[in-house]
Formats: sequence, structure tokens, C-alpha cells
Amino acid sequence: MATTDADTVKQERARQLADAAESLFAAGVMSHSGHANLSARLDGERLLLTPGFVRGLRPEQLAVVGFDGQVLEGELQSVSTEIIAMHSTIYKARPHVGAVIHTHSPSATAFAVANRPLPCRTEPMLRFGQAEDVPVVPWGPRGSDVSVRGMAEVLEQRPTTASVLLANHGLLVFGPDPAATAHLVVAIEESAEAEIAAAAIGGGVDFPPGAQEAVRASIARASS
Ligand SMILES: [Zn+2]
Repeated sequence: MATTDADTVKQERARQLADAAESLFAAGVMSHSGHANLSARLDGERLLLTPGFVRGLRPEQLAVVGFDGQVLEGELQSVSTEIIAMHSTIYKARPHVGAVIHTHSPSATAFAVANRPLPCRTEPMLRFGQAEDVPVVPWGPRGSDVSVRGMAEVLEQRPTTASVLLANHGLLVFGPDPAATAHLVVAIEESAEAEIAAAAIGGGVDFPPGAQEAVRASIARASS
């Protein structure tokens, strides 16, 4: 069978996802279990999704699934079918999002367990795309209607957030591509760690007024 453009895009995205997964382990932002799932958008309301594990992931092990939950190519462990809705909800709500990463990164998960939004008080968080606090989505069983509806509501209320904390669960981050999204996961985990450390010495302090806007303007200038 001849290789099509769509195949080339799929292979490229699969390689990017495998690289992103590896970068999360290398950065030390994974929980003890190594649990995570990563996806990238494909055309025709489809996505590439990790098969149920990420450690040692090879590009050819990724599955192609429809936004409706149907597995179109490859195989998913049964636990993964529950998380398709978590990923497809983001793609439906954010047309420009190209990749979604879910982790149980320990410090970000501490905020999720405390049901506390993570403030944006570090430069990397601003620079890598989260120039506002990370909101908390109320708990619901993973992939359930309650959880998916809660996520859709928060995404609507917060049109510029690039991440959410899933209450009593973990972190969900979305961005233009797998590498940028993985960078933001790392920046958020670092920020959560710094917040918790700062709490022991009097607590984190907000940026001075106008600082977030100034960084956003300088990023816009650098990328124009
Ligand atoms: Zn999870």
C-alpha cells in the first residue's frame, strides 16, 4: 500500500509523542507508578493515544482512536478506553490544541488532592503557556459523564487556560504539539513543587502588577 500524507503525519506525531513521553521521565516529573497518557490530534476527529503504558513506549505502539471512543488501529489496554473521553473533550473544546498529556506528577497532584488551584507565580509557567492559575475540575470517576461534563464546563469558563487539575486525581495539560505540551507539564510540576516549598518559608507571592502582561508581550514580540 502506498504511503499517504496522512500516514506521514501519523508517523511524525507518533514519534513526537514517544519523545515527549521519554522527556517526562528524563525530567523526573512522573509519579512512582509511571502512570500517564499522551495523545496527539489527527484529522477526521481521530487521535493517536498511548496504549495504556508510557515507559519505554515505541511510536508503533500508539493506537488510533476516534473522538467517539472507537479504536480504529492498534490496541488499547482496557483501562485506556476510559480515558479517550478525557482527551477528546479537550480536542473538541480547543480546536487549536494538537496534543494532550495527563500525568500524576507528584507536586501538581498534591494541589489536585487539596482541591486547590495552582497559582501562576513562576517565570517558566508563564513562558511555557500557563499565564494564569491552573483551575480544578471537580472529581468524577475517570472518563465518566460527570468528569467529562465538569471538564467541559471549566474549559468554557476559562478559555485561555492550557491545563487543568483533576480533583483527587492528577494533571491534564494541552498545547500545540507534544514537545510544547511536555515542557508545560514540567513547568507546572516545578511550579507546584516551588509553591509547596515556599509555603514552609512564608508562602509564595504573586508577580507584581503587570508582570504577566509584560512577559506575554515579550513572548509575542519574540515570536512575531
Ligand atoms: Zn490518571
